[in-house]
Amino acid sequence: MTKNVLILPGDGIGPEITAEAVKVLNKLVETDGLDISMEEDLVGGAAYDVHGVPLADETMAKAHAADAVLLGAVGGYKWESLDISVRPEKGLLRLRKEMELFANLRPAVLFPQLASASTLKPEVVAGLDILIVRELTGGIYFGQPRGIRTLDNGERQGYNTYVYSESEVRRIAHVAFQAAMKRNKKLTSVDKANVLEVTEMWREIIDEIAPEYPEVQVNHMYVDNAAMQLVLNPKQFDVMVTGNMFGDILSDEASMLTGSIGMLASASLDSNNKGMYEPSHGSAPDIAGQNKANPLATILSAAMMLRYSLAREDLAVKIEEAISKVLDQGLRTGDIMDAGCTQVTCSEMGDAVVAAL
Ligand code: NAD
Repeated sequence: MTKNVLILPGDGIGPEITAEAVKVLNKLVETDGLDISMEEDLVGGAAYDVHGVPLADETMAKAHAADAVLLGAVGGYKWESLDISVRPEKGLLRLRKEMELFANLRPAVLFPQLASASTLKPEVVAGLDILIVRELTGGIYFGQPRGIRTLDNGERQGYNTYVYSESEVRRIAHVAFQAAMKRNKKLTSVDKANVLEVTEMWREIIDEIAPEYPEVQVNHMYVDNAAMQLVLNPKQFDVMVTGNMFGDILSDEASMLTGSIGMLASASLDSNNKGMYEPSHGSAPDIAGQNKANPLATILSAAMMLRYSLAREDLAVKIEEAISKVLDQGLRTGDIMDAGCTQVTCSEMGDAVVAAL
């Protein structure tokens, strides 16, 4: 059955990089029997300019109806002075909230050909391939009560609530175990169970679920140690699962091990594996419209979409292998350029991936 994909290019380099991902998907439609139909719409500043809001209701309805959403990036100088309620980022937040995208998957993959882009020694990071599964809609970022209050003695006090219900932990745990099953079957659950009761319960639930996935080897790690291990010996990790705040911090740390923001994909999934896929970087207004951007993070996001929402693992692998081949050929966009390589434009990079497919 034909699957529907909503393409939301957004702002800045968004249209340039999504055009290359669409090119790659169209190639797979032609040659590999990929059965999808793609429709494009507006999000972010581009939507504000036309509709006066960063995500129109009709676009939201299309996202609900689609099997997956592929997004470029939103934001730019032009919209920075708008009221916060209609800023481009609000379009993204509405999509995440209304689609109930509670599971954020961020791979930190360093293609061996790009090992010199990392600030760590090449032998520590070459071939790095970690997947961080972050709970995205709960935890301390959303817990109530929250605020800043004035105590009887006149002193101000800020407070937040770190709360997870059992069902929230269970559903993110299943996403992480299932992701581990598709990879090297190793799962590290990150918590602070020695100090925080909420993560003590988190740990218990992970252990309760583990027998349902007997092939997955599970270990637990305190978040402070996990932050240290990520820079000491990052290749020990396969899949890491953690709550919203720890995941926010660790996924940025892990992605920077790779040193190349233009290569990092992401997926945000609901409980039926429907998802929104986007590069981890922003709209890069400084290079927008110049055909300079690296489209590989978006093309890798499209590969994640094939893997998680469209049940075409074979084609996800095919795209990843094609990208590796292109890097072997020494082709690089400006952000990952290295001595002895050939610098190419955004569209030339997309063409090279299509050719390698
Ligand atoms: P950014 O990620 O857009 O850019 C940071 C730096 O990385 C810039 O120098 C940029 O040129 C470079 N860069 C980013 N992606 C690249 C690519 N694919 N190829 C080559 N170089 C690339 O972050 P920023 O400058 O902090 O933010 C710019 C705008 O993007 C802001 O409006 C911000 O709000 C928005 N933003 C959007 C998202 C999103 O859509 N998910 C995420 C982060 C920031």
